[in-house]
Amino acid sequence: MKMLIGGKWVDAAGGQTFSRSSPGNGMEVGIYPEAGAEDVDRAVAAARSAFETGEWPYMAAEDRARILTSTAELIRKNADRIALIETLESGKVISQARAEMDWSANLWDYCAGVARTLHGDSHNNLGPNLIANVMREPIGVVSIITPWNFPLLIISQKLPFALAAGCTAIVKPSEFTPGTTLILGELLMEAGLPDGVVNIVTGHGRPAGQRMLDHPGVDMISFTGSTAVGKIAVQSSAQQLKKVSLELGGKNAQIVFADANLEEAADAIIEGAFKNAGESCNCGARLLVERSIHDELVQRVSKRAQSVKVGDPLDPEAQIGAIISPAQLDKIVGFVSRAREGGAGVLLGEGRAPSDAGLYVYPSILTGVDPQMEVANSEIFGPVLSVIPFDTPAEAVAIANQTDFGLSAAVWTSDYERAVAMTRRLQAGTVWVNTYSSGPAELPFGGYKQSGIGRENGRAGVEEFTELKTVQFHFGGRQAWWVRGQR
Ligand code: NAD
Repeated sequence: MKMLIGGKWVDAAGGQTFSRSSPGNGMEVGIYPEAGAEDVDRAVAAARSAFETGEWPYMAAEDRARILTSTAELIRKNADRIALIETLESGKVISQARAEMDWSANLWDYCAGVARTLHGDSHNNLGPNLIANVMREPIGVVSIITPWNFPLLIISQKLPFALAAGCTAIVKPSEFTPGTTLILGELLMEAGLPDGVVNIVTGHGRPAGQRMLDHPGVDMISFTGSTAVGKIAVQSSAQQLKKVSLELGGKNAQIVFADANLEEAADAIIEGAFKNAGESCNCGARLLVERSIHDELVQRVSKRAQSVKVGDPLDPEAQIGAIISPAQLDKIVGFVSRAREGGAGVLLGEGRAPSDAGLYVYPSILTGVDPQMEVANSEIFGPVLSVIPFDTPAEAVAIANQTDFGLSAAVWTSDYERAVAMTRRLQAGTVWVNTYSSGPAELPFGGYKQSGIGRENGRAGVEEFTELKTVQFHFGGRQAWWVRGQR
């Protein structure tokens, strides 16, 4: 496939390419241009020109919305094709990839609505001689950099929001999963997006991604990925004081009290910890359980976990597919074996699952985890659940809040007074009560602490891509400044 720059499908200026092999079976599934700084510069120039002289930022929201709606329809129409590429490149199971297509299309639909309701404010209480408009304008050219775990879904949490606001963009998907973002580029062109409004480059973090962070022609960075690279984005942004929006890692806790519906909680714990092979920023990697029900809940969870099917991502019955890369697989296995050496019990699944060419691990449940252990604090990004008992709500809050992250958390209890009290104390951008992992397009999503800066989705998600401009209109004679005073 080729890259999209200024409405044209192009190779990298230097002619280099890279390939992607499926983590499910080791076979090559895509060859892509390896963008360098020169390619990013061309993409930024195209986005800059589409923003400065193109129609997009000033187009009636009605017309922008029509293109976003068409894109949603095209995603649905092409869902099977996109889901297949997503599965081949990411290793996620096909049933889940298919569900993510609907979820993604829904975000484009939502943004069509938000585009039409986005507006500024007016002030008519400023005295007889002054009225003012506070205009909400697109921030400009945005560098959008995405990870590999939910390729189409994550770009759909950013790009339609930026477009709804009237921005133009340069997009770089992860080097592991560029295919579906390029297909999205095709769909945008088919939907009638003007040339240069969205430019897609493929390549690695360095040099392409880094140039997107550093480029002086970029007004905003919207990044989802690791906390380490998020910090690089903040450093790079300082050069021009670009606005930065970051969605980073998590070490999320599901807190289960003795009065919870344990059957439903057990199901959500499995889903939270093992869905997408645990390669999810929202992975419910820590189970904090009230001590009196520890054994019962762990037994329920482990019984369910034993029936989770690990295998070929293309198998419609598989629930956990392949791990993204050999390095990630080694990282996951390393965390589990260090936890065992540190005294944790490995109740279920240790290590790599046998396969001739694919990258698979069994889901693991670690018990007797001390809150100070590495496995209780570091993001693993694999199907590993650490179980930590607690005795009081205050202790549960303290353990939940002790990590550097603050993305999400869940509370399971039938006592809603306790639930409300817990939600107020948990340091997390999303707190679920008696559920996990739902994420309607209407609701803001993002992290406290080192899980990020800013919010995606909802009205806040569009407003991230805007600037406020205050315009004051004076009427009547204007008093000289020395009469008026120094205001
Ligand atoms: P990563 O940080 O390694 O890579 C993310 C993207 O950044 C890729 O496109 C990569 O090419 C690019 N990149 C790498 N180095 C760069 C540099 N120096 N300059 C510019 N770009 C660079 O992350 P990953 O391994 O792809 O994804 C996993 C991480 O993403 C996890 O930490 C996970 O928690 C996080 N994540 C967060 C959310 C969220 O919404 N909070 C969602 C999904 C994933």
